[in-house]
Amino acid sequence: MTRQGSFNFLIYNVYMAIKPTCDTCGKELTEFGAIVLSPPDESSKVRKYHLCVDCFEKLALPK
Ligand SMILES: [Zn+2]
Repeated sequence: MTRQGSFNFLIYNVYMAIKPTCDTCGKELTEFGAIVLSPPDESSKVRKYHLCVDCFEKLALPK
């Protein structure tokens, strides 16, 4: 399996299996939202957040 392939599989699992909630407003993600990755910290760990479409647009779109 390629790296790209396993990444797609992860996305599938996240959305189809566990019904994540938005990490900003707490709403259950009933439609496809966004996954936001933090910049790596000192130990190269990256935090992952799920955001609903509303919060993603507030956070990430240029004003
Ligand atoms: Zn939200």
